[in-house]
Parts: sequence; structure tokens; C-alpha cells
Amino acid sequence: MADGRFAPSPSARLHLGNLRTALLAWLFARRSGGRFLLRIEDLDPVSSRAEHVASMLDDLAALGIDHDGPVMRQSERRNAHEAALAELIATGATYPCFCTRREILADAEAAARAPHAPAFAYAGTCRELDSRARAELEAAGRRSALRVRGGGRSFGFDDAVVGRYDGLIDDFVVRRADGVPAYNLAVVVDDHAQGIGQVVRGDDLLDTTPRQLFIAELLGLPAPSHAHVPLVLDVSGERLAKRHGAVTLADQAALGRSPAEVLSLFAVSLGLAEVGEPVRAIDLVERFDPTQLPRQPWTLPAGITAGAASSERLRTTPLEPPQL
Ligand code: GLU
Repeated sequence: MADGRFAPSPSARLHLGNLRTALLAWLFARRSGGRFLLRIEDLDPVSSRAEHVASMLDDLAALGIDHDGPVMRQSERRNAHEAALAELIATGATYPCFCTRREILADAEAAARAPHAPAFAYAGTCRELDSRARAELEAAGRRSALRVRGGGRSFGFDDAVVGRYDGLIDDFVVRRADGVPAYNLAVVVDDHAQGIGQVVRGDDLLDTTPRQLFIAELLGLPAPSHAHVPLVLDVSGERLAKRHGAVTLADQAALGRSPAEVLSLFAVSLGLAEVGEPVRAIDLVERFDPTQLPRQPWTLPAGITAGAASSERLRTTPLEPPQL
């Protein structure tokens, strides 16, 4: 038995890809007899919107994805995040970084030219700054982010879907220059606080996991297990996104497709129902076998997001010359 969770960021409405991942996270948890918890990852005050929080909860309920206990709001967890940061700082695991985004990009380009350097890695510019150099930068008004000393070590784990995955850990940010705790820090602290035993999420987040496991190790927290599930693609083969048309449950309703029909579509994509078979989420729990989960991304059948495809066509059709 493992408690699971879904942890969306309320920067936009959930799209069909997010909702299918939520269904999978719920199926993994319920199949194992575990609880299923929700966490709203609203740490970023600029991109988080209250209306998206409400629509997310409505959309999950409309699909029959229920949850246990109160919904955690990450923005209310600041003290716990700060306590974890204080612990990392106290053990000397971190250092302030004064680099601007532009400097980091320039350094990363230079580092990428060095043999065996991971392309994404922070070049370590501020790693060895002494206290005088730091004081000078602070006096010059430069704000600092906080980085953890990853040092380029390799960190591997066994994913229930992907198998063995090894990632390199650079000196990544644990507190942003605007003071907001970074995702890779907050997710570890909050998964632990919620008692999450298995993290199920989209495989676009696979490369964040070694970093998160590293933080868990530094904080002495037990590591959850992981299952990174394949994403949903648009018919063009691109990862599903807002620009692909009628991608939300509300868009689908406007096209005349009910949440139950969307759920049935998901179930078919997972090999859990026949085409057109009406299903309830709860019926899928028994049918779900995590070991049989399709390993490939699911390409939405043609026409599902056709609402915007036609408005796209309208926009791109050249105007007729005026009839005089
Ligand atoms: N909040 C993240 C997102 O919406 C997901 C975090 C996670 O599942 O670990 O992409």
C-alpha cells in the first residue's frame, strides 16, 4: 500500500494530458489500497490563479477522481520550507549564487563546450566565492539565489514505468532570488509531510527526480518510489498544450463531449475499456494493472481537439476580397 498524490500548479486549467496523469496517479494509489492526496503547487505568486484552483478541483471531481483529507496549499507551507532550507544551510550544503539569468546562460554555453559536461548544469561560478566577494556583490545590490552543492555527481533510481534512470546533479537552486523556495525543495518537503509513498507524475519530470532524491537524502527523509507515466501528444506528435485547441474539460463540454465520455476515452487509451464503453473511475481500479501500463505516449485520436482547429482554420484562411 502506498499513498499517492496529484500536485498541479494552478497556472492554467488542467488539460487532457494533466487529467490523464491525475487519473493514473489515482489508479496507482487506489489499486494499492492507499490514500490519494491533492496538493496545489501555488508557490509562484505571479503565475498562480485562484480560478484555476477551483476549476482543477471541479474537473477532478467531474471525472470521479476523489481524494482524501484536506487539499494542501504549498503557499501555506512556507515555514516548513524555510526550516528545510535552514537545515541545508546549517550543514554547509548550500551557497548563495549572485548570477543573473544572462550570466548563467553564457556560462552554460561555455561549459557545454567542455568535454563530458552535462548541458543543463550550472557552471559553479559562485561556488567558491569568499565572504568578501559575497559582501561586495550584496553591497552592489545583487540579490542571491541559494544553490545546493550537487557537484555533478550521478544519482540513480528505479522507476516503476521507466526502469533504471541515472541523472547528474549539478548545483541547482533550492531558493530563488525572489525568496520563493524552489520546486525541487518544496516537493520533497511536502511529499514527506503528506506521507506520500509513491510519486506518480508525467515523464517530463523524470530528470527532476535525481535532484529531489538528493535533497531527501540531505534532509534525512525517506525516499518515495516513483512512476513516471507517458505523456499525451497532439495528433501532430507534440506534447499536448493549450495551443492545440479544445484541450480542457470545459472545452470538451463545449464540443458536446461529457466528462464521462472523456473518462471513457482515457480508459480506452490505457487498455481498460472498449471503445465507447461507459465507465466510472471506480470501475477502473480493479481493471488497472500497473505492470501493464502502456509505455508509449498516447496520441489523441484525430478530431478530439477539433474545436480550435476549426477556429485556427478561420483565422488562417485569407480574407475574401470585398464584393463591390
Ligand atoms: N506541480 C508540478 C506540475 O504541475 C508537478 C509536480 C509533481 O508532480 O511533482 O508540473
